[in-house]
Amino acid sequence: MKKFIPKRVFFEPQALDYPLGQEMYERFRQMDIPIKLTGSHNRVTGIPGNSAQEAFREAKQTLVVGVRKSTDFVTCKPSAHYQLPLNTSCPGMCEYCYLATTLGKKPYIRVYVNIEDILARAKRYMEERAPAITVFEGAAVSDPIPTEHLSGLLGRTIAFFGEQPWGRFRFVTKFTDVASLLPVRHAGHTRFRFSVNAASVLQRFEHGTPGLSERVAAALDVARAGYPLGFILAPVFKFPDWRRQYQEVITLLQQEMAKSAVVPDLTFEIITHRFTKRAKNNILDLYPHTQLPLDETERMFKYGQFGYGKYIYPKEEQKELKDFLTGELQERFPAAAIEYFV
Ligand code: SF4
Repeated sequence: MKKFIPKRVFFEPQALDYPLGQEMYERFRQMDIPIKLTGSHNRVTGIPGNSAQEAFREAKQTLVVGVRKSTDFVTCKPSAHYQLPLNTSCPGMCEYCYLATTLGKKPYIRVYVNIEDILARAKRYMEERAPAITVFEGAAVSDPIPTEHLSGLLGRTIAFFGEQPWGRFRFVTKFTDVASLLPVRHAGHTRFRFSVNAASVLQRFEHGTPGLSERVAAALDVARAGYPLGFILAPVFKFPDWRRQYQEVITLLQQEMAKSAVVPDLTFEIITHRFTKRAKNNILDLYPHTQLPLDETERMFKYGQFGYGKYIYPKEEQKELKDFLTGELQERFPAAAIEYFV
């Protein structure tokens, strides 16, 4: 899979006050990528596109380099205590993307260059909770891997957490460009997770992301580099052939992980498919022929952490999914922890 190279880059002028901002500016100038200044990373104008679909595609190829101003972090249940804000969005085009609710129709990609400020704030959160361990999630509103070769933010963050006695870092990705992160001194404090799914889900709903076998190969490299490893089955769908297809994924993981000389510290997380009204409207505008199951009458309504409700599978179907998937995982990976099913 080719590395992500933005078609255009916007800089907040303050981003140039930071060494990383300057470094990135110089890099894009040498790469001959059009650069413009923008007043705020929250309101970027000048991304082309005559239709919603076109504007969406262009936004996914637009990088905004900004400064994260808010000093407080958002909480992040159930995977961590806090979100660690390094970047937003990603160049992938998954039809079910959970960011369809929060980022809307112009999900341009943002990276924050004031990494020292962000990590200093993380340190204060850790100190407040010490000696309890504080866990930070680096992929709550992004897939952080595609921009890593341009920003180096993950590498710096992993190295930072490698030195923190009271902090742990984790992030999830569908991308496989992990080579630069393998030699980082992580001290086992970063859990590197890969999002995986059934073959027909990947084929119907994911665009612009590496295939399953490439993700699993990258996961093996990560395990060999001694990182704690995780797999997230997400979003899990119930479709006619779901048992067989999810079983195939779990079998593949079992076979491939058996190839690792080290027994990885392994976890699983399972997230069933859910959608909000706002996400549904955005998805239907962007992918009018989507085959995603978005019928509210087949779902149960649940109030969410951020004030908007979501449509999840009804209780009996949740139980069916949970019993099957957790049963399969426990049988194939008896030593692994299943952190949650939601
Ligand atoms: Fe969204 Fe993740 Fe797909 Fe990127 S890879 S579009 S963040 S679901």
